[in-house]
Amino acid sequence: MMPLSLASLHALWSGPVDWWSVGLAILGIIAAWWALRGRRTDRLHCGKCLHALAQTRPDAIAAGALCPECGHSLSVAGGLRQTLPRPYIKWFGRILICSGVAFWLWNGAFEGFGRLLLPRYRVENTQTILGCQVVVSQPRWSDDLASPLVEVRQSGRVVFASTMSHPSVGSARLQDPFCEEPVTLLWVRSDSGGSLGLSETYAFRIGGGDAPLPDFLPFAVLHEGAFIKSTPEQAEPDIWIAYDLTYKYWLTTGVNSPSVALRGTPTSSKIVWSDADPSAAPDEVRLQGVRAKLRTLAAASETDAFAGSKSDEALGLVLDAFLELVYEGRSNEAWHFLRASYNDGLESLTISSQRAEVPRSLEALERVLLEQMQRSPYLGEILRRNGGSIAPPALPTTVPIQVPSNSRATSR
Ligand SMILES: [Zn+2]
Repeated sequence: MMPLSLASLHALWSGPVDWWSVGLAILGIIAAWWALRGRRTDRLHCGKCLHALAQTRPDAIAAGALCPECGHSLSVAGGLRQTLPRPYIKWFGRILICSGVAFWLWNGAFEGFGRLLLPRYRVENTQTILGCQVVVSQPRWSDDLASPLVEVRQSGRVVFASTMSHPSVGSARLQDPFCEEPVTLLWVRSDSGGSLGLSETYAFRIGGGDAPLPDFLPFAVLHEGAFIKSTPEQAEPDIWIAYDLTYKYWLTTGVNSPSVALRGTPTSSKIVWSDADPSAAPDEVRLQGVRAKLRTLAAASETDAFAGSKSDEALGLVLDAFLELVYEGRSNEAWHFLRASYNDGLESLTISSQRAEVPRSLEALERVLLEQMQRSPYLGEILRRNGGSIAPPALPTTVPIQVPSNSRATSR
């Protein structure tokens, strides 16, 4: 709860509109005061029923005189009055005061009281995962820019708490390649929510086998990926999929950006990558399909004013298939596919591209591709899968190297 202080009282005041409502209430108070003072008359009245008396001066009232109308004693204090009330103005003043206060409350003071008295976060959902209570809370007020709050409690004690954007939680069961025992993890993920797909996953080891661990141990902090849940009926352990964002928005726009992923099993020290799966790479049918699509795009772009978007689409298709081949350990095939694609229309399409950074020759394209792959955080694993090298094979030289005729004579 927010501590009550002078500074926190500003929550009760939201600005110019509140000055209007205070002005309204002050006018009401003036009207009410004026109504209370009453209207002065030149006659005396009974203090109870306001009956106009025959006498005009208080000293003309005899001691013990009674009101001829209601029998109220006129000689007691307050038994006589020389003013008459103004009931309409009194009500008008009351209405002004009430509407001023109501307007102030409606304009934000209600919320201000709420901010002073209620906790900043409101629980959105509570779930029990692996015996832990996971509570996700959202900021209570819509203009509060704070991120949602995730708390993990074990037997009532908060063992983890952090603000996270677009939080999600779950559990995973991993077969640690270094241990016999499967590892059970509780994970909490913070997701940037943007199309770039940045995320951080905090994994905590909950228990080994049947015996729960006494402490809440951090197991791993993983970036840009997700656990693939195996169905509860299946005995297989879960797998971590790491998304390589190195090629996102590089040479191509968002929708055409290639997406490549690596599968592995996180351990407490590193991710142990699964072996490359050549069957997961694009097969010959898909590669031929990409090349056919390139020829169609290249033919259509000759008469098209929107050749730039076709170039982007073509480059995206080729890079996607190329990278998938490399990431599954088939880099030689990947380079051959790239060169074939270049002849099939990628050349004319990239030349018509509106983006300055798109390379305009095969040599330049191969060079920037190799450079970009070297920026990948998974470069070591990519190299391992490709037998230590992902460099393009030497291009067949069409022009034989000219040896000057006199070189042999002078070199001696
Ligand atoms: Zn009277």
